[in-house]
Order: sequence, then structure tokens, then C-alpha cells
Amino acid sequence: MSTHDEHQRNVESSENAEREVSAKMPPDEGSSSSTRHPSTNALPPTERRLVELLATISHEMRTPLTVIDGYTSTLLRRTGELPQEEHDEFLQIIQQASQHMELLLSRLIEIAELEAGLVQIEVSLLDLPALAREAIALAHRHIPEPLRDRFTFHLQCRDEVGKQTEEVSPVKGDGQRLRQVLEHLLENAIRYSPEGGRIDLIMRPAPQGGNVSEHDQLRDTPSFLEICVCDFGIGVPEDHLKRIFEHFYRVDTRLTREVYGLGLGLTICDHLVALHHGRMWAESCPEGGSAFHVWLPCEKLPVGR
Ligand code: ADP
Repeated sequence: MSTHDEHQRNVESSENAEREVSAKMPPDEGSSSSTRHPSTNALPPTERRLVELLATISHEMRTPLTVIDGYTSTLLRRTGELPQEEHDEFLQIIQQASQHMELLLSRLIEIAELEAGLVQIEVSLLDLPALAREAIALAHRHIPEPLRDRFTFHLQCRDEVGKQTEEVSPVKGDGQRLRQVLEHLLENAIRYSPEGGRIDLIMRPAPQGGNVSEHDQLRDTPSFLEICVCDFGIGVPEDHLKRIFEHFYRVDTRLTREVYGLGLGLTICDHLVALHHGRMWAESCPEGGSAFHVWLPCEKLPVGR
């Protein structure tokens, strides 16, 4: 069998693994890649959620494992025969599949710890504009070299009437965790803007009343700072805006199929913001693209909690 055939066979078997698991799943509501197992309907909601989660995790692990198995078998069988270039290419594919599994496991551990209440935040007074600049620098590294010129980042601080300002309301929180949230939102803005474009990071006092009414527990808090990450990429269809915060939920589009993702990043961000007694949500922008909003209470958490 030629190397090309071997490669093709490995690709096909990983696609088959994907299909095999998907075939056991019924068609999902809407067009997301979130999974639902047919036999779970009769179970109580908590058990159903657990079974579905386990099915999804097995699904997510099986594809990289099939890739690793297929390509290592080829390498073992054809030691010394493969041209160096192909040998290296196969090793890179194996390395990428292992990295995907590692990312999956670390995100799962992070979610498990968050949901078990094991994550504590270290609170101090934050310099949010400085934090945002750091997050932009970190996110910038995720842009593949040839695409770097296509993106521009704009950090803006505004006052109550929308005027540009240098300062934002004081917020107390865990700098490392909030930088993680901003970095993830910026990384998504990059990944889901295939043509590149402008990415805005805006900080401003949140309008009083507004969306808070949905969340009574936030009513007593006097004021919030809003951080908004806006892009002009593919956007999120209206009926998926809430669900993208669920475990493993991804909107099924040609681009999301090409961009590697697990649908866990926003779930983690949501938990981290909740730990700060804040909230987050997404909306589509009329000009295209999407906006992710994070509201953080200005003076709620005591330092050193
Ligand atoms: P991941 O991106 O790894 O799949 P996330 O939890 O970060 O996981 O995002 C969940 C889904 O939300 C993505 O798969 C994508 O469908 C959608 N999404 C998130 N951010 C954006 C964005 N800025 N633009 C368009 N879609 C987005």
C-alpha cells in the first residue's frame, strides 16, 4: 500500500470513528454538535445529563485516539520505508492529536473543579485596562503568522455617557482568572473571524437596570462594569446565543468544523465570571459578528476573600 493510501486510510478511520459515535446519537435539536443519547429520555434530568456528558466525552476522545492508533501503526509497520517528509508529517499528526486530548482533559478537570466548588479566587483591586492589554498580547499569539496583519485590536474605556476616558470604575477580582476569560473571548473572536478584521474590547459602566432584571440576585449590587469583546466575524445565530455556554455546545457551521474546539471554553468563562458575582452573555451584532458581554460588580467582593 502506498504512503498516500495509508494516509487516506488513517484519515478515513478517524472519520469513521467520528461517524460511528455520531450514528449512536439521534439528530440533535437545531444544528449544534452538542450530543443527546436516544436511550436517556426516560432518565431523571441529572442522570440524563451525566450519561450524555459521558457519551460526549467518549466521543471527543475517540477521534484523536483513532488518529494516534492509525498513524503509529503505519509508522511501526513501515519503519525505514517512509520518506523522511511523510514520517515527520505523521509524527506531527500524532502530536497534534495528543495535544487535543491533553487540552480536552485539562478543560474537563477545570470544569469538574469549578462545578465542585473547588476553585477559589484570589481577590485584589484590579487594573482592568492593563489586564486587557495583557490579554490582547496573549491572544495575539494565537493568530497564525501570515494572518497577523489582518487583525486590529481596539481597547476603549468609556464613561457613563460614552465618552472616551483613561480610567474605569474600580473592580475587585482575581486578575489571573479574569485575564483567562478575556483571553478566551479574544481568541474566539480571532478564530471565528476567518477574514480577520477589527476586534474591540470596550470597558464602560453597565447601564443601570438593563439586563440585570433577569437576574434578581444581582439587583442589590449598586453598579457593574461592563467588558465587551466585539468582532465582525461569522457571528452566532440568535437561537444558539444562550446554548453556546453549555458544555460541549458548538454551532455547527463549515468554519466551526474546520476550527478545532471543544465547546468548553465559554462554559469555563461563565463559571469564572459567576465566581466574581458577575454574569456574561452573548449577542449578535447588526453589522455582523458577535459581542460577548461580561458584567462585574464594582464594589462587591472584599479584598482577600
Ligand atoms: P470552542 O470555541 O472551543 O468550540 P467555546 O465554548 O469557546 O468552545 O465556544 C462555543 C461555540 O460558540 C463555538 O464552537 C462557536 O460555535 C461559538 N462561538 C464562540 N465565540 C464565537 C465568536 N466570537 N464568533 C462566532 N461564534 C462563536
